[in-house]
Amino acid sequence: MRTLDTLWLSDLTVEHLSSPLGIDCACPRFAWKLHSHACNVIQEAYRLCVSSMDGENNDAVICDTGRIVTDQSIEVVPEGFVPQPMTPYRVSLTVWDNQGHEAFLSGRFETGRMGIPFVSSWIEPVQEPTPSTVDINREGDALASGNEEERDFHEFRPAQYIRVPFTCSKPVKRARVYATAHGLYRLTVNGARPDDREFAPENSAYHKILFYQTYDVTQLLFHGDNIIGICIGDGWWTGRVGTTGDSCQYGNTIGLLLDARIEYTDGTVQTVTAENGVSSTGPVIFSDLFVGERYDARLEMDGWDMPLFDDSHWTPVLRKNYDKTAVTAQIAAPVRPLRIFTPERIIRTPKGEIVLDTGQVLAGQLEITLTAQAGRTIILEHSEVLDREGNFYNNILNVNKEQTDWYVTREGTQTYRPSFTYHGFRYVKISGWPGEMDVDQFRVWTFASEMDDTGFFTTSDPRINQLQSNIWWSQVSNSISIPTDCPQREKAGWTGDIMAYAPTFCFLRNADAFLTSWMANVRAEQMAGGEIPMIVPYLKAYATFLKRNLGSDTSSGWGDAVLRVPLTIYHAYGDIRILRDNYDAMKKWLDYIRGRAENAHPEGYETWDADRRARDRYLWSTDFHFGDWLVPSMVLGNPDASAMNETAYKTMRYVAPAYYGFSALMMAETAEILQEEEDARYYKDLYRKIREAYMEEYVHEDGSMDADLQGVYVITLQMGLVPEKIRPKMVQRLCEMIHENGDRLDTGFLSVPFLMDVLCDNGQEDLAYTLLFQEDCPGWLYEVLRGGTTMWESWGATGVDGTVSTYSYNHYAFGCVGEWMYRYIGGLHEAAPGYRKIRIEPHFGHGLTSACVREETPYGTACVNWQIADGHTAVSVEIPANTTAEVVLGKRTALLGSGKYSFLI
Ligand code: BGC
Repeated sequence: MRTLDTLWLSDLTVEHLSSPLGIDCACPRFAWKLHSHACNVIQEAYRLCVSSMDGENNDAVICDTGRIVTDQSIEVVPEGFVPQPMTPYRVSLTVWDNQGHEAFLSGRFETGRMGIPFVSSWIEPVQEPTPSTVDINREGDALASGNEEERDFHEFRPAQYIRVPFTCSKPVKRARVYATAHGLYRLTVNGARPDDREFAPENSAYHKILFYQTYDVTQLLFHGDNIIGICIGDGWWTGRVGTTGDSCQYGNTIGLLLDARIEYTDGTVQTVTAENGVSSTGPVIFSDLFVGERYDARLEMDGWDMPLFDDSHWTPVLRKNYDKTAVTAQIAAPVRPLRIFTPERIIRTPKGEIVLDTGQVLAGQLEITLTAQAGRTIILEHSEVLDREGNFYNNILNVNKEQTDWYVTREGTQTYRPSFTYHGFRYVKISGWPGEMDVDQFRVWTFASEMDDTGFFTTSDPRINQLQSNIWWSQVSNSISIPTDCPQREKAGWTGDIMAYAPTFCFLRNADAFLTSWMANVRAEQMAGGEIPMIVPYLKAYATFLKRNLGSDTSSGWGDAVLRVPLTIYHAYGDIRILRDNYDAMKKWLDYIRGRAENAHPEGYETWDADRRARDRYLWSTDFHFGDWLVPSMVLGNPDASAMNETAYKTMRYVAPAYYGFSALMMAETAEILQEEEDARYYKDLYRKIREAYMEEYVHEDGSMDADLQGVYVITLQMGLVPEKIRPKMVQRLCEMIHENGDRLDTGFLSVPFLMDVLCDNGQEDLAYTLLFQEDCPGWLYEVLRGGTTMWESWGATGVDGTVSTYSYNHYAFGCVGEWMYRYIGGLHEAAPGYRKIRIEPHFGHGLTSACVREETPYGTACVNWQIADGHTAVSVEIPANTTAEVVLGKRTALLGSGKYSFLI
């Protein structure tokens, strides 16, 4: 029985994951949460024991910290613990609080190979290579002709099926499979999947980081003959990816690396490799991440991954001498199904098409169940919007973007869901269906990398709640193994998008391991000169295309992801190691910018006087940049590339130097946190010089700038690049511009994240709310009132007259307003890393009668809930154990320890 003020513990994590299997980390970090109904609870001490789980009763204690007096309950590294490879560990934790209570919790984790090489070689089925289109100049290329109807997909290759046979003749204690692939694979043991992960090995810079997965297959083994079955499709390895839809980013054949390690109860160990596997093709005719899948159910091979199957006609696999140095343990939790649901309705469009409406723009797949005769082709075409008349409209253009699944039926009742593809969609046009259909014959599967939902926000205004839902959906749709820009057209790790959106991302879901994993890719892809590519992983298709069209691999603001993402992680989760791990990469990025500022000069430089030349050393005034990408007034109603590029060209000369100041500021902050005093001084001084140069060069005495654009002013104000005496004038001009624009924002990718704070910090709170509640385009609620269920790439993706466009309807970048809503309206601030200290300062009213914000912080639940009724405002707050909060309600401030409190104002 738990008494009211008892202490209890939860969420014992290792490397920010619960019970991870197969982590390769030399110094794993532990964390836990304290809970109590009592107030002012602080951890007084802990004791952590790590034992190797060698059997039922003979765990050997490997590390015992003893009782350590400290309030540290996250990011704990037990001294002297040196994990061994491929070893399961039990963790036993005791915690004492300041109220005389003691609590106990245990957990487990298992290390991966930790550098122990695979016994197996890479193996490949005998196959015809995929023709490579990387490096092809696409002009005049047949693939680019857009004549989709005539496509026969002859250049696409089938998925490969591999059987790895082995025998177990003794009782098994523990069995693990370690596997990865060139391509995407799905694994079964004797016909059963060991887990529900999808799209392994996940999207990474494969030539430098290729994640292997660890599976616990102990329960799936038979005494006697066993089969490991693996099906491999193209994925990011050979498939057609990114804007250009080019194939073969990393290779033109698919293959497998697999060791199964079986420990018997008698202490012996058997390692099974894939080298004696046999392979065949089967029902997956091709499966491409972007194009879709063609599946012929008539070619199904019942029992192909079971022992008794006749594989006499299958072909032995080939051993390949490919390099294994890139192979390393997966850092983050896998991609898994997120929501599985029945679509909303089936509609017949004015044109007579049968279209399934899932009710939600999302990233996922459609599963179908039907009864049919053999040989019928069912075509499933996916799209995010219907046109103005309500007909099916393919909003994703360009090469290899079909987003279509073709299913050829077998005889009887059957269920099908594609294997190695996912689409960005809400609507599915269905052709070839036999007879009537019912929504119950369909299931929508959505996916995301597994992360806990941590942030919740709701208000009295249903429109704002819909906006919040839209933000969440765009976030999850764009977190399938890496943070992506959109789930349909590109599925690419555009660095600028997550740079802008990271604070909201980290509030809504626990993204520490996920973004840590992506940051490893950022470091791997950083170029010799320090450039952070615009996209990570930096696919060849992009590298060629961007270099040719833009002359650059990086862009101001985009490359700054290397600073802003780790800093955001540090603040959200109290993870300081992420800063240390990325510190050199950050400095290299700053060095790169400095090199460009000092050594590259804009046109006309020779004619400048000495002062101006001296200033230019501190301004990034050259090179291509995306600038304040997608300024609405330049792209509304004009979705073509030239309008988009105009937003870059009209803003980049101001945005790049201003973001250089931002980079220096973030670098100085990082150096300070890491106690790199000299660096901190250096970067503060650099910021000061950038500031002086910028103000002199771009800011006029009357507070105006030559680029009279909202976004440029917002960025200038946010980065502090304006003399204090001029600031009010600049704010005034910004407000005028907003008014002149009908009280509507006109800000792009790099300024939207700061728009609301700039207004609120400069006494323009009312205008900030006017923008938030603006129902006309551009505005957040415009999208909501137009029926948006996700965030759009461009504010006017659907025009005022209902015309839809080829913009993406699922881009999270402009959802960055979320973080402001949670912090400003809800009033929940992180005041010390990981919410160790919290500041609670809600803003009431402004058209809202209530708001509730809740964050599952690394210490536990922090919540603010306010409600206006009968002339009073009732506020209740929850402060997690082991933290303190400063609560600011109007003019009253209180310092509180953990607990639940209510106030009436
Ligand atoms: C992507 C973006 C990205 C941008 C670069 C687009 O195609 O979808 O979100 O950041 O290119 O400007």
